[in-house]
Formats: sequence, structure tokens, C-alpha cells
Amino acid sequence: MNTAPTAPADSVARIAPLVAELGPRFTRLSDDIWDHPELRWEEHRSVEKQIEIAEELGARISRSIGGIPTAFSAEWGEGGPVIAILGEYDALASLSQASGSTTREPDPGNAGDAGHGCGHNLLGAGSLLAAAAVARRLDAGGLTGTVRYYGCPAEEAAAGKTFMVAAGAFDDVDAAVTWHPADAMSTSQIHSLAYTQAYFRFRGTASHAGAAPQHGRSALDAAELMNIGVNFLREHMDDHERIHYAFTDAGGTSANVVQSTAELYYVVRSPTVARMRALYERVKRIAEGAALMTDTVFEVEFDGACAELLPNRALEKRLHANVIELGGVPYDDDDQEYGRALRAGLPVGAAEARFAQLDLAPGADPLFTGVAPLTDPAQRHRMTGSTDVGDVSWVVPTVQIMGGTHILGTPPHSWQFVAQGKSPAAHKGMVHAAAAMAATALDLVTDPALLDAAKAEFADTTAVTPYDCPIPDGTVPPPLREGYHPA
Ligand SMILES: [Zn+2]
Repeated sequence: MNTAPTAPADSVARIAPLVAELGPRFTRLSDDIWDHPELRWEEHRSVEKQIEIAEELGARISRSIGGIPTAFSAEWGEGGPVIAILGEYDALASLSQASGSTTREPDPGNAGDAGHGCGHNLLGAGSLLAAAAVARRLDAGGLTGTVRYYGCPAEEAAAGKTFMVAAGAFDDVDAAVTWHPADAMSTSQIHSLAYTQAYFRFRGTASHAGAAPQHGRSALDAAELMNIGVNFLREHMDDHERIHYAFTDAGGTSANVVQSTAELYYVVRSPTVARMRALYERVKRIAEGAALMTDTVFEVEFDGACAELLPNRALEKRLHANVIELGGVPYDDDDQEYGRALRAGLPVGAAEARFAQLDLAPGADPLFTGVAPLTDPAQRHRMTGSTDVGDVSWVVPTVQIMGGTHILGTPPHSWQFVAQGKSPAAHKGMVHAAAAMAATALDLVTDPALLDAAKAEFADTTAVTPYDCPIPDGTVPPPLREGYHPA
């Protein structure tokens, strides 16, 4: 049963027409960012395109937040409260994909290999749209308050927001609202995992592998032994924990040379920062063991980290009330027809699994026109992925909506997700999510009781468990490090 309080009668009604009016500029922005995908920390063009529109709409811009070249804010209004709306815009490697295609084929217009496999082209444009609409309403209504769009770089495997939080970027913010493209519109109530990712670099001694192996000390052996050790560790960790790795340097391609260098990239995830740290220490001890066994040395370069999400029930209930008032995404027959064609490209069983989760009949329409219910907080879904929205949620009360932009069962971080990122259905879902975010941000300005309730809940939790920043003291963001080069 939905026990959410009724939203103030006019927030959705007042803001939705403004969002609709501004919408087409921002769907064009989203398409433009889709057409020019940029990887983490390198989103210079995406940032400039967003700033261009924000400036045209009268925003005050702050560039290079925390010294990060692709972090910025666009702000409207005066005085408090200060409401943040968070956006992202980085793409993923190896996911260039033709728009609207049901088979795997690279985008012919894309010179690189990146693609928007997580829909961050929609994410940034939709959040900026929401902020611009709130700005118009503040102005038209003579309301006191500030709305600030945060352009957050490097969400994919890098945690740009964590570095922004560490730099104090959210110190004067009262509450934050954000969203993520998905296959069904819902108020996000997930748990996510904290993580640390780091490079493990082994160094040994090169030698002729046939003539003088006794003089060689193999860094590649050390890397392999580390991976074997971690494989054994996996049996003795919590069910919800995850450890992944990639070889970023296997020492070379000559089998007849003892490899003197090797590098592994590890991601260590756990439900809380404290537990993640403990697991990460175990992984580091395994690296030590591997170095001891092979008579090599190693160093660790910390890359990024994020905290788990801290939910805020007061904000979830209000956002959900606004979502209910808005209704589902208004897809039409053409959208559903497009969706039916695209379903052919989904992994077998993916759509059916989502139908079951959402209590839909087999053979339901591919695009979800409903709103997923708000569930009991005790039943929160534990996502075994991570998001750096987590760190923001530990410094200001934060809420997130999952927007309905893709057909049911579309896996994130897939070429199928990329293929749908410029469709009319994705545009509708983005504008719809922007309306829900804008209405909630407006409520936070006009309804002091809501902001008080969100802050009181936040204060109660963080008094017992304060934010534990997962970035080691003194660590600078990767783009500011000596020797940094794009991925
Ligand atoms: Zn994402």
C-alpha cells in the first residue's frame, strides 16, 4: 500500500508544462552527447555543450569543481535552500553501437569505440532540464531559493562525485535529487555497494626464459598468483561482496622473456565502506603474498572509491507522490511498435524476467507505461553494483528516480542500451523523469516541512554512522596526477 503523503497540489501541475516547453532543446543535447561519446575524465565536449545551454538560460557557471577539469555547476536563483540536481555524461569503452539496431554493429558516425551504454547522455541532459525548469519557476513565482545542477564526471568505474564530495562541493547544499535511465519508472529504493578500485603493479627481473630463467623473477607469475589467491578468497567472503579484475599489463608478448612488469586492475565491492576496506586489505595481503612467493616487488595505485547509498525515506515518499501524480511515461503505439522490433535484440529471457518482477502478463508491451510501487523499506533490493551518488547521499539528503527510457529487460552497460539511447521513447522517458525531479526540487524549496523531515532523518542516521570517506587522505583525482593519460 502506498502511504506516501500527498504532494502539494500545484508542484507537478506548475512544473510539468515548463519541462515540456524546454524539453526539445535538451533531447537534442542528449542526442548530441550520444553522438560524441567521451570516456571518464575526458568529457570536455559534453561539458561545453551543457554549459552553452545553461548560459543561454541565464545560469551562473562554476568550472573545474575540486580542480577536476570536467566537473562543473550551473546555478540559478538566490539564497536558501540550495537544491542540487545531479547529472552525469560519461560513456563506456568498447560499446560503439548503431542507433536503433537490433544486432551488434558499431555506430558508423563514431570514430572511437565508446558508447553510451548506461544512458548518461540522457542522464546529464535530463537533470539539466529539470534544473532549468525549476529556475524558471523560481523566477516566475518570485521564490527564494537556489537550484544548482552539478555536472559530475567519471561515474563509470571512477567515482567523480566522491572526489567532488571530498573537495567540499556539496557543503552548502540542503538536499539533492537525481535519476538514472532504466527500463521502468520507479522511485529508486536500492542498496548499492561501496567499492575501491586500484592498480596492482608488480616488478621483477627480465631474463632469457630459456637460457637463463634462474636469473629472472616474473612479475607475470606474481600477477597470476595474486588472481589465484583472490579466487580462493571468494569462498570466504560475504555473499553480497564482489571482486573483479582485469589485466592492464601482462608484461609483453614475448614468451621467451621473463616478464619484468605486470599490472592488474582490481575492483573490490562490499555493502559498507568499513567492510569494503577490510576486504580490500585482504586483497592487498594476497598481493604481498604473491610478491613474496615470486621474489618480486609491487606497488598499489589507488584509482577511485565510492560509498554505498544512504536512502532518505521522507524524500522517497515525496518523489513517489509526484511520480504518481505525473503518471507513467506516455508512450504511444509507435513507441511500442519500435519496442517490439527492438525486443528481438535482447538476451533470451531478459524481457520475461522483468515482466515477472513487475507483475506483468507474458507478452506485455515492451515499454512500461506504469509506475513501479514504493516498497517496504525492509524489502529494499540490494544491487550488487555501485554508484557514486552514494557519497553525495552521505553528505546531504538525496533521492533518485529510475526513469523509464528503455524497453523492459534491456541490460545496462550493453550495446542494446546504447542502441535505444536516441529513440523518441528514451526522449519521453527523460522529459518525464525531469518533471518528477523538478517537482520534487520545487517542493524542497516551497515546503519547509519536507526539507526539515528529510534533514531530521539524515541527521538521525549520520549521528550514529557518520560518512566514512572511502578516498584515502591526500589522494588527488586521477586527471590531476602526474603521468595521467586518458584511458
Ligand atoms: Zn550509469
